[in-house]
Amino acid sequence: MSEGAEAAHPLLRRQLRRLGLDPQAVPDLPGWKAFVDRVSRAYGEADQDRYLMERSQSLASEEMATLNQALRHERDLLESRIAERTEALRKSEDRLASLVSLSSDWVWEKDERGYLSYLSEGAAITAKKPLGELLGRRVQQIDGFECDERSIQAYVHAWAGRQPFRDLVHALRSGDGSTCYVSLSGEPVFDAKGVFVGYRGVGTDVTAATLASRQLTLMARFDLLTGLPNRAQFIEELDRAVARARRAEGQFGLCFIDLDGFKQVNDLHGHAAGDEVLRATAARLLEELRQSDFVARLGGDEFVVLLPGKVTPAGLARAGEKMLQAIAQPIAYQDRQLTIQGSIGIALYPEDSTEARHLVEQADAAMYLAKQEGKNQVRFYTGTLARNVARQFAMELDLRQSFSVGGLELHFQPRIELATGRMSGVEALVRWEHPQRGPVPPAEFVLLAEERGLIVQLGRWVLDAACRQIRRWRDAGLRPPRCAINLSAHQLVSDALFDDMCHALERHGLEGAAIELELTEAVITAQHGRADALLLRLRALGVHMAIDDFGTGTSSLSMLHRLPAQALKVDRSFVGRLPDDDAMSVTRGAIALAHGLGMRAVAEGVESAAQLQTLKELGCDDAQGFLLGRPLPADAFAAHLRN
Ligand code: C2E
Ligand code: MG
Ligand code: MG
Repeated sequence: MSEGAEAAHPLLRRQLRRLGLDPQAVPDLPGWKAFVDRVSRAYGEADQDRYLMERSQSLASEEMATLNQALRHERDLLESRIAERTEALRKSEDRLASLVSLSSDWVWEKDERGYLSYLSEGAAITAKKPLGELLGRRVQQIDGFECDERSIQAYVHAWAGRQPFRDLVHALRSGDGSTCYVSLSGEPVFDAKGVFVGYRGVGTDVTAATLASRQLTLMARFDLLTGLPNRAQFIEELDRAVARARRAEGQFGLCFIDLDGFKQVNDLHGHAAGDEVLRATAARLLEELRQSDFVARLGGDEFVVLLPGKVTPAGLARAGEKMLQAIAQPIAYQDRQLTIQGSIGIALYPEDSTEARHLVEQADAAMYLAKQEGKNQVRFYTGTLARNVARQFAMELDLRQSFSVGGLELHFQPRIELATGRMSGVEALVRWEHPQRGPVPPAEFVLLAEERGLIVQLGRWVLDAACRQIRRWRDAGLRPPRCAINLSAHQLVSDALFDDMCHALERHGLEGAAIELELTEAVITAQHGRADALLLRLRALGVHMAIDDFGTGTSSLSMLHRLPAQALKVDRSFVGRLPDDDAMSVTRGAIALAHGLGMRAVAEGVESAAQLQTLKELGCDDAQGFLLGRPLPADAFAAHLRN
């Protein structure tokens, strides 16, 4: 029994004790031992199972702990990596933000409906208004939005296809009322699932560049002063007019308008006044003409008008007259009234030519004729005119050449002191021997030189030639008196005169007092005090001045008084009529005026002894004229000097 009890499972032993049985004492019962053994074995087996269970549980939890630890490690690692990344991201965002804020560009975002959902500060700076006024809208809804049709199409196309777009420029009204120009580039944005959520991109302020390029386009096609189409656009329009007329067998007139005396306005009242005259002229031409007519400014004081449709010469002449009248209306400028006139030349398509270029030349030539025949009138192109113009052009070329190849020469006319009969001066008069045409009167080619911008060059040639001649005479032992040289108005306006004078004196070793400059009354009036300083500088060189052709102009006393002149030359139109009563009183008055202003009185164009006698009686100081000596070439004149 003890054997069985020893082997009993402890749990069974406790149960037996609770039943009052001694686990040590084996009751004498059949099968007890087997029973105890079986129960003990079963308990043992259960123990075994539980052990296994616990064992596996503890193993599992150990494993979980390790796993947990690994996970935690992994998480820490991840977190630190996230922190690193976040920091890097923050830095890069900061960098981007500071770049964005520094640049004039900005970042924008639109939601999937096209409403602005984000804008960086640059947008507010460009638009000169708070971001709040821009956000939550479509760009097209912003005040002053304007965009060309092509850009809008490109944008709509890109948006619909979820495509990127680049450099689409549009205008907006900015906070201060001005227009700003913005260039936008953008690309679509999709969320993680690939769903379209809007657009994002950059905006750039392109106002300055846009304005500059517009200005360039304007400048290329329009005259900025008057707002009229310019020469380039006129030429295109003329070509179109020719093409139209050719197709429809139509006609049109081309008017070439040039203002008369525009230069005087500039010289007298300043360039701002000249600008005002041009603007007013443009406005009046536009007012006078019909919608279908085309007006352009070619430059300077030149305008052109195309008059399309059925046009008769009479109708064109009327249109021309109307334009002249419109131009001639006084123009208010500051506290003054400016008046200007114009000369108009007209050529007709197809009568005069079917070539655009020829028509322009013909209208120009006709305008030139209008000027020559007294200005402020309309002239039509004609065949003879063509020949005249061709002649003018040829003359101009020949004159240009004469500076280098020769043909120009000075003649000299003596000025005589009436009291003594001594030669008190000599006037240099330019001569031009044209290679084919022979001698050309100075009145003709001096005018040509003035009109074609050659006068400064011609004047320089005369100065130099006169000084050279004086030097030669002196070197030959002669004592030529002071030499008078004629000046044109244009020479006073240019800066070259003083330098040219200095060079000529220096080159030929002369003192200023060897020269007298003759200014006609017209020249004095035109310079209107603007050359006073120049004349004083010349005077300071010792150069003398004379007032030429006195009595033909409109110089005022104050003007004459201001002029540092030493002589006053009474025009030969009065001298020639002496001793007529009115000529007498004018001459007497002129002599008194000269003396009153401390100048010598000089009579021009003395041809008769009677004239000479009268001049002596009137107290005139000097005289010049065919009676006393004709203008002569230098060599012939030298004979005079020897006597
Ligand atoms: P001007 O300065 O009044 O010159 C006097 C003109 O009267 C000269 O004409 C001269 O030949 C002419 N003459 C002289 N005595 C008599 C006379 O007794 N009777 C008549 N009927 N005429 C007389 P010219 O040489 O034909 O010159 C005409 C004008 O051309 C000059 O008038 C002057 O204004 C201009 N001119 C001449 N040479 C030059 C020059 O070198 N430069 C410039 N800018 N103008 C010049
Ligand atoms: Mg003269
Ligand atoms: Mg004269």
